Amino acid sequence: MTVRLGILTSGGDAQGMNAAVRSAVRAALDRGAEVYGIYEGFQGMIEGGSLIRPLNWDSVGGVLQQGGTILGTARSPAFLCREGRKAAVRNLLLQRINRLVVIGGDGSLTGAHILRQEWASLMDELVADGKLEPSVATEYNFLAIAGLVGSIDNDMCGTDITIGADSALHRITEALDAITSTAASHQRAFVVEVMGHHCGYLALMGALASGADFTLIPESPPNLDEWEEKMCSILRTGRAVGRRDSIVVMAEGAQDRHGNSITSAYVKQVLTQYLEEDVRVTVLGHVQRGGSPSAYDRVLATLLGAAAAEAVLSAKPEDEAVLIGIQNNKIVHQPLIECVEQTHRVNTCIRECDFEEALQFRGKAFRDSFRILRTLIRANPHPPTPSKRRLRVAIMTGGAPAPGMNATVRAAVRLLVDNGHIPLGVKRGLRGLINDDIHELNWMSVNGWAPTGGSELGSSRKHPQGTELYTAARVLEKHQVDAIVMIGGWAGYQAIHRLYEERHSFPAFNIPLLCIPASINNNLPGSELSIGADTALNSIMEVVDKIKQSAVAFNRCFIVEVMGRYCGYLALMSAIATGAERVYLHEEGVTLKDLEWDIDLLKKGFQQGKRLGLMIRNEAANSFYTTPFIAALFDEEGGDLFEVRQSILGHLQQGGNPTPFDRILAARLAWEAVRRIEEMALRRQAKSYAEVDAVCLGIQEGDVKATPLYMIPRLMNVELQRPHEQWWMELRPVARMLAQPGPGYFRQTESGGAGVAQTA
Ligand code: ATP
Repeated sequence: MTVRLGILTSGGDAQGMNAAVRSAVRAALDRGAEVYGIYEGFQGMIEGGSLIRPLNWDSVGGVLQQGGTILGTARSPAFLCREGRKAAVRNLLLQRINRLVVIGGDGSLTGAHILRQEWASLMDELVADGKLEPSVATEYNFLAIAGLVGSIDNDMCGTDITIGADSALHRITEALDAITSTAASHQRAFVVEVMGHHCGYLALMGALASGADFTLIPESPPNLDEWEEKMCSILRTGRAVGRRDSIVVMAEGAQDRHGNSITSAYVKQVLTQYLEEDVRVTVLGHVQRGGSPSAYDRVLATLLGAAAAEAVLSAKPEDEAVLIGIQNNKIVHQPLIECVEQTHRVNTCIRECDFEEALQFRGKAFRDSFRILRTLIRANPHPPTPSKRRLRVAIMTGGAPAPGMNATVRAAVRLLVDNGHIPLGVKRGLRGLINDDIHELNWMSVNGWAPTGGSELGSSRKHPQGTELYTAARVLEKHQVDAIVMIGGWAGYQAIHRLYEERHSFPAFNIPLLCIPASINNNLPGSELSIGADTALNSIMEVVDKIKQSAVAFNRCFIVEVMGRYCGYLALMSAIATGAERVYLHEEGVTLKDLEWDIDLLKKGFQQGKRLGLMIRNEAANSFYTTPFIAALFDEEGGDLFEVRQSILGHLQQGGNPTPFDRILAARLAWEAVRRIEEMALRRQAKSYAEVDAVCLGIQEGDVKATPLYMIPRLMNVELQRPHEQWWMELRPVARMLAQPGPGYFRQTESGGAGVAQTA
């Protein structure tokens, strides 16, 4: 029996849908299945004919960077009726399709679930009507479905994030950054409305990432009936303390505690009346759905697409329809209908004003972010409590600059000040500590830092030695420092570890020591992700997208070298995000045999019409087979078939404004640092401290966790400056599978297929 899989996108489009389609199609072809694209969503299924047609490896080439969906999407009223679904079943069976990957929102996934439930009875009706051969009905007696959530709103239960939400957040943050600068120039107030009927994710995270002054989300309307007064008083106080811009970010589904809708026009009217200011409204609208998908969305959609094809091809008749999502950084399969029903329950909670329950459904990360936002957007901090000890916390950045360092400092400073503590900014990391370059920071001294790249405090790779340790200890004593927060990369971690090791000689180091991971390389212990890596990945991806366009015109192969030192995270992830056919990692090594194999594949590809070659090489992949060496070798071997160019991306990877993902990560880690410092200080007061008051914080399985500092040497390959365990290494098979058709593909194409992928 032929195994045929159909794939469709439905409902509102979302960036990243194409990456999911590409990956599901290629994964299915790789397993030897035949794949049909169902164009225009469920409407295409109902109409059939040329709207259901075969896809091959190259039909989904070159689509990774495209927004929207190459399959088209539609809202189909006809599919809501049984007659419409009956026509759909007939058209699917005409092509012998009984396995579906459906990419859409909760409506589309509900439709898919209903289709599966009715499959047998609709087939019986078709047989009775004489429109279906009984033998076909017997052979294809079940429908297997895997659903992926493509929706910018991030409003679906069963997955921590939906395909498209991160890209929409990129659009929102870019817009908010731009509006902030014009608002500040004119001292204007802006009301910015973002998408989200029942879900405040985009408004909340957009406000957190951009440093807005007030936010309105459906899940948690302002407490008071007189919220208008409260909003105006926050904005007025903000002006009084020197804020030049006033930005209110609101979800389109914002409402008050009684369920009455709050419109952006109403917020404008209130602000104009009470603030007596020039107030402008910007409704971001469909801009949020548009544009090229972010790196995160491309990688997420790629992994989910491959998992969906796998699930649907291995499904048995009795298996339920599944939703494939991501939870705690792991791909998960869940009963589709349960996720849909839970999503509807949240929407009901919001409609019925049960906000506590709605927030509970949204999960811990959402609730934590909301709590953090409520502090960060205050015009003024809470005054210190007289009975509470005010801790003096030194904050510094160390190692190479990583985008998001400033956002972390800003969040840490504000959260400390709001809790009554005194943040001390140390200039240029350990160098500033040794030179006594330390200054008190306050609420407003970090105003506007969230969107900026680099490090305002300045950074260094200083590793304290000999008498410098004594000097550093004296400076800490002089400033009566109670705790140190190091926001940095490996050099910063090493410096703090050195202080930790010297605790027995210098009591001044015997204070809480916290490291927050900030490095584009993502090579730090105790964290799956470090601040700055997402920004660097997006910077690489944007450049490579342009390089790919230029390469096509000349039949070129590009060797692109990316940073990471001995850690291949940026290389592998950028290869997945850009569709590179080969990635060279230090972790895997590079041999002459590999290079010969790659030359062979390139030659075959270009002979068969390929126009572009893309290889990504980690900067330290191999000290002999350097980027210039590989480029020269390939160029020589390519002869007249193709040209080779190298591109060493360099420091552009360390620069740029942080992405929303990095800014949000910065806020979450800073919040946990402040919480822990308070906890450690209390424990010290009770004289029950232990070595756990020296820790590195990080994201592990979706949550913020702490790893004792003494474990660093055990967790790290110190010589190669990377952790022994790197979770992302598991993603290599997907990257490899998507780059080139495997034996499964050749088996199912009679002639052996095109032989080599012609497009990325
Ligand atoms: P978005 O989140 O962008 O709104 P969505 O998938 O929820 O995406 P909908 O318009 O709700 O978008 O649904 C898309 C299509 O799915 C509908 O036009 C319809 O064809 C089908 N569909 C939705 N709900 C059902 C249902 N209850 N029964 C059958 N089909 C449905």
